[in-house]
Amino acid sequence: MGLTLLLANPRGFCAGVQMAVDVVSQTVALLPGERIYVYHEIVHNKHVVGRFQEQGVVFVEDLDDVPEGGIVVFSAHGVSPQVRQHAAQRRLETIDATCPLVTKVHSECIRYARQGFEILLVGHANHQEVIGTRGEAPSAVTVVESAEQVEHLNVRDPARLVYLTQTTLSTDDAGVIISALRKRFPQIKEPPSSDICYATTNRQNAVRQIAPECDLVLVIGSRNSSNSVRLTEIAENVGTPARLIDDVSELDWSWFKGDETVLITAGASAPEDLVAALCRALLLQFGGKLEQRDVVTEDVEFGLPASLKRLGRARGADLEQSRIRVGAYSFTADLYGAVPLTVSAKDGPRS
Ligand code: SF4
Repeated sequence: MGLTLLLANPRGFCAGVQMAVDVVSQTVALLPGERIYVYHEIVHNKHVVGRFQEQGVVFVEDLDDVPEGGIVVFSAHGVSPQVRQHAAQRRLETIDATCPLVTKVHSECIRYARQGFEILLVGHANHQEVIGTRGEAPSAVTVVESAEQVEHLNVRDPARLVYLTQTTLSTDDAGVIISALRKRFPQIKEPPSSDICYATTNRQNAVRQIAPECDLVLVIGSRNSSNSVRLTEIAENVGTPARLIDDVSELDWSWFKGDETVLITAGASAPEDLVAALCRALLLQFGGKLEQRDVVTEDVEFGLPASLKRLGRARGADLEQSRIRVGAYSFTADLYGAVPLTVSAKDGPRS
């Protein structure tokens, strides 16, 4: 008896989230005693946001809530040019924590709009990232949320059409919509490389691969985290029930008989200590073993944003050479305690 916990690798923080979290931490450290504002949640995770709030960071949904001349960090999801203009009008000092992979989609949007293309942006219309990308060329962009919607699209010129995607979509769902677009508009151009980012793709592939041998999938992440919700959908697509929980407190012991095989993963914005706490609680309750499954080895590095380096220079801190690097997770005794652990590595592609 006892549970078999299979821990997906990769899981949790991606390089973009790690960078955004570091940007806020470093801004707080550079400006002791000053109020730091963040426009929207820095990443979609209530624990990450709550931990910064405890340090005095204020999250706002409207730049008018930042006092004139104040310091505001733009979140990992990016903002539209209209938001940047608004910040400039209010003389705000802005630090941009937009993930470079979101910026890539913005750049594509600007380039194709300048070339006269109509852009079909596959994604969730209300997601901050999509609002920001669309804002780069509002008159050229139509957001496409479903394959059904494709049937009713009116386009100016099917020969001058391109699709782009939100970075955190389900690769399954996006594939269905893109197939519908290709079928209806055979001349539609595709982005130079997939807009669905490496972290989304890898975390989904790990679930797709491991979930079929499990009775249950537990995803640590917040309900407004697009990529976390997508992980539960991927699990259910392969026939395994899945639950999305913010942390161990949302566990319901009635989900378990005590002898299940459970896949544990985490969305790209969920901290590793929450995953470890979940594993410890399950093993304490039911006994069993923990095995990490290495599906893809990630090793991704981003530079810090220029706006943070500028702030560092102004405050006498040299951040020029600082890099954010995210590789595979390794178990640490302080997080996992003395749980019995094995790691089964499968040599997957490096990203
Ligand atoms: Fe960037 Fe992808 Fe992470 Fe979003 S999920 S912050 S696009 S790496």
